Amino acid sequence: MSVPKRLVKTVLERDQYECMIAGPRCLGVATEPDHRANRGMGGSTVLDKPHCLIAACGICNGDKTAATGAWRAELIERGVIVEKAATNRETALRCLYTPVVDRRGRLWFLLPGGTRVESTDPLF
Ligand SMILES: [Zn+2]
Repeated sequence: MSVPKRLVKTVLERDQYECMIAGPRCLGVATEPDHRANRGMGGSTVLDKPHCLIAACGICNGDKTAATGAWRAELIERGVIVEKAATNRETALRCLYTPVVDRRGRLWFLLPGGTRVESTDPLF
């Protein structure tokens, strides 16, 4: 199931249409939302939340699905990929407290309402 149009707009605007995955073939401009955690079988909508989604370009979104090894490890380290927890609800919570590091090294906490807060805490 695809992400509702209004939610797509919220995510793209929040991330200022900048691809948050920033892979080697990145187009720069984001045109679609990307689920940070795999929804798995059944396509649950529990992860259709602003904090579980990042803005992405079409190329990076596709490349991320196939990411393995060091590249996948980097995406996890940057919070672009959030590993699944026991339930989708727990995975959504994990997305909430896992910041995303963008292409410039800025660190963002994504909030449920569709806003984001940049962390300047050196511990993160
Ligand atoms: Zn990209």
